Amino acid sequence: MTRTFTAKIELCCWKSHACAQCGCRYAYFMIRKVGHGGASQEQATEKAQAAGNWQLASEVEWQPCPTCGLYQPDMIARRRRRWHLRSAPLIFLAFFILGGLFLADVIQARQALAFAIAGISIAGIVGFFIDGRSPNFDRGANCGLAEKEIVAERLRTIEPGDPQLASQRSRRMKRPSLLAWLFIGLALVAVAFPELARRQSGWAYNTAWHPSVVGPGEISYVYLPDSVASIKGLWRGRVEVTVRDVGDPASLPIRVASATRQATWPASGKLESSDVIATQRLWVRLKLPANVSLTGKTLVCAIQLVTEYPWIGPDNTRVDKSESFINTQELTLAIPRASFYYRVWWCVGYLTGVFLVGMSILARLRAAETMRRQVIPPEIVENSLSIRPCSPLP
Ligand SMILES: [Zn+2]
Repeated sequence: MTRTFTAKIELCCWKSHACAQCGCRYAYFMIRKVGHGGASQEQATEKAQAAGNWQLASEVEWQPCPTCGLYQPDMIARRRRRWHLRSAPLIFLAFFILGGLFLADVIQARQALAFAIAGISIAGIVGFFIDGRSPNFDRGANCGLAEKEIVAERLRTIEPGDPQLASQRSRRMKRPSLLAWLFIGLALVAVAFPELARRQSGWAYNTAWHPSVVGPGEISYVYLPDSVASIKGLWRGRVEVTVRDVGDPASLPIRVASATRQATWPASGKLESSDVIATQRLWVRLKLPANVSLTGKTLVCAIQLVTEYPWIGPDNTRVDKSESFINTQELTLAIPRASFYYRVWWCVGYLTGVFLVGMSILARLRAAETMRRQVIPPEIVENSLSIRPCSPLP
């Protein structure tokens, strides 16, 4: 078996910055601990050293200027970038889940719109807080921190700056949030687009139904106001539904294809410890008549549902109970395939909205990068290396 070696090394340096406001040159002590594997001890150490040197060269610490107390723009930019990159996956995960819940008909279009608006607003506010938090409001306190670091020998002044120059240049760090806010605003418009288009088209929204926008020939299901309490919430039913055009009293009820839940359970037997009582809302799914003349018409759906469910019988046995429910629900139809078109609009609006949220995060990342590049790049003034013993691994 090939043996691999790991090298754990500690690299440190003094890194100098030129203050962006008072011109002070100051340096702080920086330390990085790196571990790396390799085929031999020498190779592992070499790789660890290269990784450590890269970290020392590319990263900066959080240390204020000893003369004017300014945290340098590149320090702030790196911190903002880190927080934007941490928050972005959570934001996109939330949008992904929300989109899935809508497409699976678990939540309705209006609920999804409300959540999407809330999500986009939260994404905007999170970005605003990340960029809005400035560590340079209290320069006096920052100078106090710098003094403590000097005493602890982690910070030193190479060349003092000019405090007057600092007060002249004291301007708020540029907050390039305008573009990011513009993308957030456009994202809100994009997710609201399907709802605006639906209203413009005059398509009815049926609050009780899933999907809520339907046309002739499409399938939709409705939760009834009734529910059953049964063992483990199990139930099955036989359903008959007739529909009638409410605007035409002379029309005859039409029977439509319908379905409901078909749970199964053992016919009888002793109750088990896992047999708890749970309450479930009843639902019915219908295939609406594919009659184009029903476009824009309101239908009254007469629903007759006979349910069966397991219940507790004598001597802790399981018995089947039956109960009938009669209910009427109204439903206004849009054009044929309206549900499909509305879903496509919704996906287009939603994906555009999510894309624009991504653009707002990118705008903030770009702004942080611009801020980082504004300053004279920090440089390593002294560095050293301490190598810890290498430990062979099997
Ligand atoms: Zn300064």
